[in-house]
Amino acid sequence: MNEKPDLCITYDSPVTLLAGVGKVRASAYAKMGIFTLGDLLRHYPRAYENRGDVRLLTQAPAEGKCALILTVATEPRCVRLRSHKSFLKFRAFDDSGSCEIVYFNQDYLKSTFPTGSVFRFYGRVERSGSKYSMASPVFEPWTEFASLPPFAAVYRLTEGLSAKQIAKDVLAALSLLAASGTDPLPAFLREKRGLCTLSFAERNIHLPESRESLALARKRLVYDEFFYFSLGAAMSQRATKSAGAPKCENNDLTVFLGKLPFALTGAQKRAIDDIKRDMATDIPMSRILVGDVGCGKTVCAAAAMMLAVQNGRQAALMAPTEILARQHYADLAPLFKELGYDCALLIGATSAAEKKRIKALLSNPHPALRLPLVIGTHALLSDGVEFAAPGLVITDEQHRFGARQRALLSEKNTHAHLLVMSATPIPRSLALVLYGDLDLSKIDEMPPGRQRVDTFAVNESYRARLNAFIDKQIREGGQVYVVCPAIEEQENACDEFPLYDLLDNAPLPEKDPRPPLKAAISYAKELQERFPQHRVAFLHGKMKSGEKDVIMQDFSEGKINVLVSTTVIEVGVNVPNACLMIVENAERFGLSQLHQLRGRVGRGKRKSYCVLVTGGTDDVGERSRARLDTMRTTYDGYAIAEQDLIQRGPGDFLASASDGSVRQSGGLCFRLADAGEDVSILTDATADARALLASDGALKNHPLLARRVQETFSIDSGLIS
Ligand code: ADP
Ligand code: MG
Repeated sequence: MNEKPDLCITYDSPVTLLAGVGKVRASAYAKMGIFTLGDLLRHYPRAYENRGDVRLLTQAPAEGKCALILTVATEPRCVRLRSHKSFLKFRAFDDSGSCEIVYFNQDYLKSTFPTGSVFRFYGRVERSGSKYSMASPVFEPWTEFASLPPFAAVYRLTEGLSAKQIAKDVLAALSLLAASGTDPLPAFLREKRGLCTLSFAERNIHLPESRESLALARKRLVYDEFFYFSLGAAMSQRATKSAGAPKCENNDLTVFLGKLPFALTGAQKRAIDDIKRDMATDIPMSRILVGDVGCGKTVCAAAAMMLAVQNGRQAALMAPTEILARQHYADLAPLFKELGYDCALLIGATSAAEKKRIKALLSNPHPALRLPLVIGTHALLSDGVEFAAPGLVITDEQHRFGARQRALLSEKNTHAHLLVMSATPIPRSLALVLYGDLDLSKIDEMPPGRQRVDTFAVNESYRARLNAFIDKQIREGGQVYVVCPAIEEQENACDEFPLYDLLDNAPLPEKDPRPPLKAAISYAKELQERFPQHRVAFLHGKMKSGEKDVIMQDFSEGKINVLVSTTVIEVGVNVPNACLMIVENAERFGLSQLHQLRGRVGRGKRKSYCVLVTGGTDDVGERSRARLDTMRTTYDGYAIAEQDLIQRGPGDFLASASDGSVRQSGGLCFRLADAGEDVSILTDATADARALLASDGALKNHPLLARRVQETFSIDSGLIS
């Protein structure tokens, strides 16, 4: 399936195939993650200039850009200034008036504008009194007989690449691929859902013929994003439901439960009963345990592990980060030890010798000698980790792994029971997409005595009061988290524009008008200077895991008072003494993410607070305001997730819920899907994907489709054969 004939041009062909794309431009493209023709075509415009909206000079809007059809009235004149600067100047008119047009440092344009020639100019019209002028407008020769495209794509750019170049390359890619292009989506689905063809969609998303064709193109591409995602997710997690799993019939947990310092909640009991029932049969369990942060999923995982080991099988628990794996290990290993079972920790930082020892113990054929329990990170997936008697595989906070890694672990142990734990409450419509056919247990009850984390939304003008509040919390013995969206200052520069509504006529801002991002490293420094008597440290994802562990350990032991970090602390870590969570640039975070962050505090006896700080002192805009209000008034993770879905749309929601591991694999990403109404496209696409797989599980009758799913989802060809 992977061999390609030499001359065949596909989405996988490199961009260097295009005329004019050499080393330099290819490396500029690489900076934006564009390597193949497919990547280029999926570099969708972030907005469109509505050049088809032609006005008369006198009706040009006071704000924003517009298009004008003007006839050149005077010969362009070059004016030289000091320091090698110059400008070109001429007058042009329409029926309503005349306008001065100026280009800076572009003398070579002099011969482009002979008097009497007609152009469509696009730009901002300045007006002073009765005089009009335009500076450096976009110009296109105009005749009455040949119409110009009404919309022009605006792309996200990088140094060394102009919009013109991108548009030209996109056009070239479109025509190269058009020759080889067959639509992978079955025609009957296209008809059923009123979708346009792929080639129409690809052309019109970049070069819309009209507003209607743009809407059609977008609908098709959004459908595709969901459709392929659904297919890929379902196919990669298709559990082999055949018998062969170990029956764990000894399911008396009395001794284990007696060792716990608390009684289980009703919801925990129900979840453990579900697990007992599943594991007692020889059909492999494939269950997802969903519950809000702090609801107590870990103890359910431990109970499941006990079920495996007391039936002579092995159990593995995989966490998404080393910090979390260590924490699980520190919490659970002593408990298991007390009950007579050894447990090892296997993470990237584990020494080679220790890894070797653990692997040997895990694969030891003698029941008495082999290691029954292991906790770790994706290091558990690495070659050479074999279980002699696999019984149960658990992945914690699985949205951090993505379906792909989860599939890997369970594929390796096809006959083991599988338990997935997630703290992201997923609305029903999306749960189907993300979790396919996993059975669901929901923990909808908090352990007793949990307090509500009082939540406030403030802006820069509260900074002094906030600093005083930090100081007060620390002096009273508490600890503080500060979460920043960036690691270093310069990240601000390459931060993207928000994706403006594609069909919106709103003028594009010249530069990002949003307040700058707070950066963890420099902000930690600033806070340390402000509070010399307290210890401030920072933590971010680019640090070595050893360094991160030391910081996290010091924080959990109370040696650090203020921990400034990126969202690396989002998942799962438990520091009961932390009582204040400050989120900087809170306007940049999704609701579910804010909720996760808030869940880091309020885990102990201390009264806890969450302060959401928006950048700047201006009002943050309606959407952000609505988000922050939801956070202030809602504490139920599911209600928040539903709001998140409505406010951000399924694309963004899924992208953040499935995280980088999935997103970065082969272009699987929700680039277009973002509006709330896309939920209905999502529902359609998911239903179609399921129906198709129900009748043709390996897509044998749809080889093109299989191929496309494989490309976008990076699934082993073994899964689709
Ligand atoms: P999460 O579901 O977010 O993984 P944890 O399993 O980390 O939550 O549990 C959060 C905290 O609640 C832990 O300190 C744990 O010991 C405690 N806990 C769990 N279940 C109970 C219970 N039934 N009663 C009291 N405390 C509990
Ligand atoms: Mg947890």
